[in-house]
Amino acid sequence: MKCALVRPDGTVHHEERHPTLASRGPEAVTENILQIAAGLAAKARADGLEPVAVGIAVPGVVDEENGVAVWSANVGFRDVPIKQRLEERLGLPAALGHDVRVGGIAEARLGAGRGERHVLFAAIGTGIAAALVINGVGYHGAHGAAGELGHIVVRPGGPECPCGARGCLEAIASARAIGARYAELSGKSDATAFTVVSSINTDKVARLVWHEAIEALADGLITAQALFDVSVLVLGGGLAEAGDTLITPLTREMEKRLTFHRMPRIVTAALGDTAGCKGAALLALDHLEQTK
Ligand SMILES: [Zn+2]
Repeated sequence: MKCALVRPDGTVHHEERHPTLASRGPEAVTENILQIAAGLAAKARADGLEPVAVGIAVPGVVDEENGVAVWSANVGFRDVPIKQRLEERLGLPAALGHDVRVGGIAEARLGAGRGERHVLFAAIGTGIAAALVINGVGYHGAHGAAGELGHIVVRPGGPECPCGARGCLEAIASARAIGARYAELSGKSDATAFTVVSSINTDKVARLVWHEAIEALADGLITAQALFDVSVLVLGGGLAEAGDTLITPLTREMEKRLTFHRMPRIVTAALGDTAGCKGAALLALDHLEQTK
């Protein structure tokens, strides 16, 4: 968990990192969050500051309006009323957001999408998810499940996806899928996406696997562009660390697929792994503004 005391202008006063304790189950994780948040509020007061709101971001399906962590594969949340429990414990107004969506808010307002009104943030790591941010506000959808870019089917009948479908973008172009595909073709069982990226100049198989992933990403992202017509596409997550090795061929493949719609500018994320944390603070401040 990345935690911070954030000022209203988005600058950070203090940062902390803690283990999530996901293996101990959702109740232990929730209690851990409450304790750390209370500790941060106490730290703020000890530094002579006044905490005004608390923002939390979690993965999975998030009901932002009611502040409920509806479902999460890796933490095991099932309808946990995190916002309410935070407000009870801390006595401060709280907001709950989705990790990728708040990361998108932070990138759009403080990071690589700064100054743009229509931003799509795509996090490409172990999984793939996206957040549409319009005028600095994340779009969460009717059920809190908007932005599941990784589960757009780009190869019907293709490889099995953890969601149960076949040929999802995530099953081909996530860091996990890239590592697994390379391992399958090369016989090097400990290969990762990093192995692929770092050997594309010398290894034909790595080049092939990378190209397959880029083509799949271009198919998925051109679909997103047809739907949303953003001016800037911010790429985050572990795979974005490949920089131009990702952006140059991805831009080329997307341009090949364009007909009448317009290309977004493609950039890598600027805030690194603190985007979610800063975005959670922005969400809390927005919530405070709305309830005034
Ligand atoms: Zn899927």
